[in-house]
Amino acid sequence: MKNQLPIFAKIWEQEINWKPTEKHLDQWEELYQEIILINNQVNLTRIVKPEEFWEKHLWDSIAGVVGLPFFQYSRKMKVIDIGTGGGFPGLPINIVFPIWDFTLLDSRRKKIEVVNFLLKILELENSWALTGRAEKIAHDSRFRGKYDIALIRAVGESSTCSEYILPFLNIGGIGVLYRGNWSIQEEQLLKVALKRLGGKLILVKESKTPLTKSVRHFVYVQKTHLTPKCFPRDIGVPKSNPL
Ligand code: SAM
Repeated sequence: MKNQLPIFAKIWEQEINWKPTEKHLDQWEELYQEIILINNQVNLTRIVKPEEFWEKHLWDSIAGVVGLPFFQYSRKMKVIDIGTGGGFPGLPINIVFPIWDFTLLDSRRKKIEVVNFLLKILELENSWALTGRAEKIAHDSRFRGKYDIALIRAVGESSTCSEYILPFLNIGGIGVLYRGNWSIQEEQLLKVALKRLGGKLILVKESKTPLTKSVRHFVYVQKTHLTPKCFPRDIGVPKSNPL
């Protein structure tokens, strides 16, 4: 990916009006090389070609959080990435905002061991990776209501995702749902779920990926009230019986 990164950096600048530094490029290259190596032993991702990795893992992760009026980029923010898998979208964002403090959560221990290793070699000292189910960890007082931002990509339907993220947010905190297609019906279901969870929908941003022109939607929700204690429901219920 090393040779292509400067070309990609230009696309980035045009597409999202944001210019990565040399350090960002070096760290993304390191992340890519390590993931490709580890992928032979632990199945982290099927996205291994350089262009695909850049577009689907790096561009997509970062496009969800840059250039928005409701994030304070220069302030230390507490961020949780739920169902992070091999560290997406959290890790590429953490490279851009090293002062933000990330918790990268996934139910698979092996993936979390790898993500902790990646955090170490990338010297992202404010962050850590944690094994556990969102339904359980969200009831732990060390995590409930403690985050300014919650990220979630490719974990389930949007109402299921909202039940995972809202309990982790503080009041005023923002959740980012990374979606492919988006429909009015899905938006209505999400609004119904948010009402019960103490949140509201604030923005749906449509985007096309720069290389393959795939449709993406970044859905932003805000926590407005305390989430009732009964949420999230027991392990498996948010997925099998969405709100
Ligand atoms: N977010 C990553 C990405 O976009 O590349 C990984 C997506 S992968 C399809 C879904 C991940 O969510 C898996 O690693 C799975 O273990 C995790 N996951 C699913 N349900 C979860 C839950 N309730 N709590 C924590 N992790 C969960």
